[in-house]
Amino acid sequence: MEIDSVSEAELKENGFRSTRRTKLICTIGPASCTFEQLEALAMGGMNVARLNMCHGTREWHREVIRNVRKLNSEKGFSVAIMMDTQGSEIHMGDLGGASSLKAEINQEWTFTVRTFDGGVLPESTCVVNYDGFAEDVKVGDELVVDGGMVRFEVVEKFGPDAKCKCTDPGRLLPRANLTIWREGRLVRERNAMLPTISSKDWIDIDFGLAEGVDFIAISFVKTADVIKHLKSYITARSPGGSTSVFAKIESSDSLKHLEDIIQVADGAMVARGDLGAQIPLEQVPSVQHRIVHLCRQLNKPVIVASQLLESMIEYPTPTRAEVADISEAVRQRGDALMLSGESAMGLYPEKALSVLRTVSLRMERWCREEKIHQTIRLPELSTALHERISEQISISAAQMANKLEAEAIFVYTRQGYMATLLSRCRPDCPIFAFTETKSVRQRLNLQWGLIPFRLDFSDDMESNLRRTFALLKARGMMKQGDLIVAVSDISTADMLQSIQVRKIP
Ligand code: PGA
Ligand code: MN
Repeated sequence: MEIDSVSEAELKENGFRSTRRTKLICTIGPASCTFEQLEALAMGGMNVARLNMCHGTREWHREVIRNVRKLNSEKGFSVAIMMDTQGSEIHMGDLGGASSLKAEINQEWTFTVRTFDGGVLPESTCVVNYDGFAEDVKVGDELVVDGGMVRFEVVEKFGPDAKCKCTDPGRLLPRANLTIWREGRLVRERNAMLPTISSKDWIDIDFGLAEGVDFIAISFVKTADVIKHLKSYITARSPGGSTSVFAKIESSDSLKHLEDIIQVADGAMVARGDLGAQIPLEQVPSVQHRIVHLCRQLNKPVIVASQLLESMIEYPTPTRAEVADISEAVRQRGDALMLSGESAMGLYPEKALSVLRTVSLRMERWCREEKIHQTIRLPELSTALHERISEQISISAAQMANKLEAEAIFVYTRQGYMATLLSRCRPDCPIFAFTETKSVRQRLNLQWGLIPFRLDFSDDMESNLRRTFALLKARGMMKQGDLIVAVSDISTADMLQSIQVRKIP
């Protein structure tokens, strides 16, 4: 049986009830890419490592993947890997190698589609990666960097250059996202025709599939079609492969087709950074709430991302408002919280992760103590009998575990579906998910409340149960008399799925 040392230590120390239910994702960058740094993050509770393909070479990413795999095989972790595509929206260039540049109020800057020999840029110049930029932009337009971190007004157009005046000062980061606004509306000229998945993205996707990443996140999804297309591409490209596709909800178009997109995707990310640049900021919280609930109804894992601990890029302590924001995402029962710059290039990656962990644990406990359940309607997902039985068993198991105050729910599952159904019910106790393959175990590690184990199954359910009881007891992770609810979707000749209430012998 495989379980990682951190979950094991947490279980031993605090008992089942206090294990963390909310999962944590860290974006990996220069501040977190060595084996030692990754190990420290895994020890600190990282469930998923995210590679942002906006930055770094494929070689660099390959090395990170190697390190994560090594960590998993040597230390028993099941840290999953998510590859996040750049997308083909408008970005700035890499600032001639500078880590950031300061734009001052009223300062003149040139945005251009020119290329510069050796990448050396003239002062106060930004390269734009999109060739149609000079055509699309007009005098008087507003250029919004990274969803409003910095703003410029276009004062003059001159061939491939747009001369701009800084109206909201701030720091420009390499490859920051750029949107063009005219009279309060997002400009959709030629840039609206850019494909969701660019040529670079396709090559990155091939790279990710070859490396066997667990999740691919697609930036700026507009419709369900692109997700469908990618999913069939993945099936054709790596038959039997198990890479899941996450849709990043960050464009105003995606909100128009939200349900269709989530329905076909394997999960979604509330990408609040760019979302806040495309819709009025004050709408972001209610949109987050809507996406989190919809994902749970459709049984898709959901990630709340961006600026959770933005201040911790520079400072060792978070703002109280950031703590409140994290708590709200936990209270909404999102599956996972994600760090971006905080862990990729900030000064305090481990501290930021530790804030996510302690705030999640505290809020989860408070919700249990105050009996704050997010009672939402969970519609039937399938019309097929086998799956309907799984759904009903999961709902009953969660209800029974809550009423009987069971210590844990055990689920024995080959593909993981039954485990996801249990997670969807958000029961009071943790869910131990036993599965045969590493890839399913890693995939389940992103979902709310699941503690995934790898176990070689026997066809006899009774023998699986006895074996896990003995192993968990021997490791001091459970004790005699603990009450558990056990379910399985390992079918045998005369039984499809089962549910049992057991006491640890
Ligand atoms: P990004 O996506 O980190 O790739 O920009 C997240 C967001 O926009 O919030
Ligand atoms: Mn984004």
